[in-house]
Amino acid sequence: TEQTLGRLAEESWSRFDDHDSMFYEGAWHRSHALAERARRMCGGFAESGIRPGDRVAVMMANSPEVPLIYQALWAAGAVVTPVVFLVGPRELRHILLDSGAAAIVTSPELADNVRAADVDIPVYVDTGELERATEHGPVRRDPGDLAALMYTGGTTGRAKGVMLSHGGLWHVAKDAFELSHQEGRNRALVPVPLSHAYGLIITVASMHATEPQQAVLMRWFDAKDFLELAAEQHVQYGTVVPAMIQLLLAEPLESHPLPDLAYLTCGAAPLGRDTLAEFERRMPGTQILEGYGLTETSAVTTFNPPGRRRAGSVGVPLGGYSITIRDGQGEPMETGDVGEICVSGQSLMLGYWGEHDPDPEGTALVGEELRTGDVGCVDDDGYLYIVDRKKDLIIRGGFNVFPRDVEDALNLHPDVVMSGVVGRPDPRVGEEVVAFVQLGKGAEVTAEELIEWARDRVGRVKYPREVRFVDSVPVTSVLKLDRKALRSRLQG
Ligand code: ATP
Repeated sequence: TEQTLGRLAEESWSRFDDHDSMFYEGAWHRSHALAERARRMCGGFAESGIRPGDRVAVMMANSPEVPLIYQALWAAGAVVTPVVFLVGPRELRHILLDSGAAAIVTSPELADNVRAADVDIPVYVDTGELERATEHGPVRRDPGDLAALMYTGGTTGRAKGVMLSHGGLWHVAKDAFELSHQEGRNRALVPVPLSHAYGLIITVASMHATEPQQAVLMRWFDAKDFLELAAEQHVQYGTVVPAMIQLLLAEPLESHPLPDLAYLTCGAAPLGRDTLAEFERRMPGTQILEGYGLTETSAVTTFNPPGRRRAGSVGVPLGGYSITIRDGQGEPMETGDVGEICVSGQSLMLGYWGEHDPDPEGTALVGEELRTGDVGCVDDDGYLYIVDRKKDLIIRGGFNVFPRDVEDALNLHPDVVMSGVVGRPDPRVGEEVVAFVQLGKGAEVTAEELIEWARDRVGRVKYPREVRFVDSVPVTSVLKLDRKALRSRLQG
């Protein structure tokens, strides 16, 4: 069959008997009722003049409607342009104008924000109006057509539009489903935002399901709610990011046994090897399966399949991808050597959207290959290990300091909830290593003690010379460390 997301959505709507398919804020929603709503929304988009190829922005917190809107837009041939609900009017205006969005779908509590962006396009404040239309089936699209325009890079500069195709997302999602799915384990806890590439691929992966899926959807991650929901709904797996693991570790995990929770997929940011070990020690029976990817690779590039998991590695490339490690001159390196991770394969982005230079950080397609800007190495069996991001490197007195090493060490301290390390320009050593640290409740550790703790673990070159305590470390929508925000705090 045609490898497009509209077709896939249509198939998925009637693949299984009616069942409880989504749990949200206290109630289960049935699969056939949801499917009918998606079909009607598709009709609603078509009737209100949305044409194949039109970009439609979707700015909503997680709710059962979000995947339905995506499916309806794909079936209508439109291009999904998700916007994280946290963005302010200025950034939203940039995204709406840059993408040339034909309309935006949002929710009542965000309507003022959308109006403040002041862009003259139809605004759907809920899906009611769209759902009053008659049902509508998918229009024809080609696998090479644009399916999603994802704005990314907000932590490093101006958001840029990544163009992802129907076929690219279709294949990555299929691989991701097949690599992670375990028979009989179909009930997932989903706290990641569906507006991020990670959440988008979860949505498409569930459309490939070979058994009826059940998603317990969280509007927003909260460690206590996560543990309660997981227990109450007997979830069997979850989709998380490292900061969520870190925040869960601050809870009394031992008093929340989760015997049904077999595994957590984890990605989007670095996870310390010791953090992983600590979590699995305190939550026996739950394995962390790490993956790695960029928006530019349709979200997932590598994954650790259950049974073949290597702790500390982000796994092996999905079927459609291959990885080359390159040195500073762009030459391929030997197995085990550390260099820039470069990815080629069928699901890479079609490119960045728009004419202005959308690539100020140098992450780009070179020929058929994506230079990721990430540094790492591959072992003899093809497992990938991430060292850090090239652009986050701190050079102190001529020595390379990867902030991730320092953060991993600090995060292991029992009083530390989360840390973020950046370089402060320094006339003597070039850049000085500065750590921002968020402590747990009631913690009394001093900056000096933490500096010493880090020095014992990362050595005399890399340890932070300054520790600043913060109420909360700034993070993005997927709780990824916001280094841009940290750097700007250095001035303060
Ligand atoms: P923003 O989050 O500001 O939108 P971004 O560049 O972080 O921008 P993404 O596409 O979400 O955009 O993130 C991709 C990056 O995330 C990768 O280049 C890599 O640095 C990091 N990353 C993803 N997974 C992992 C992982 N498992 N371990 C370490 N780093 C990871």
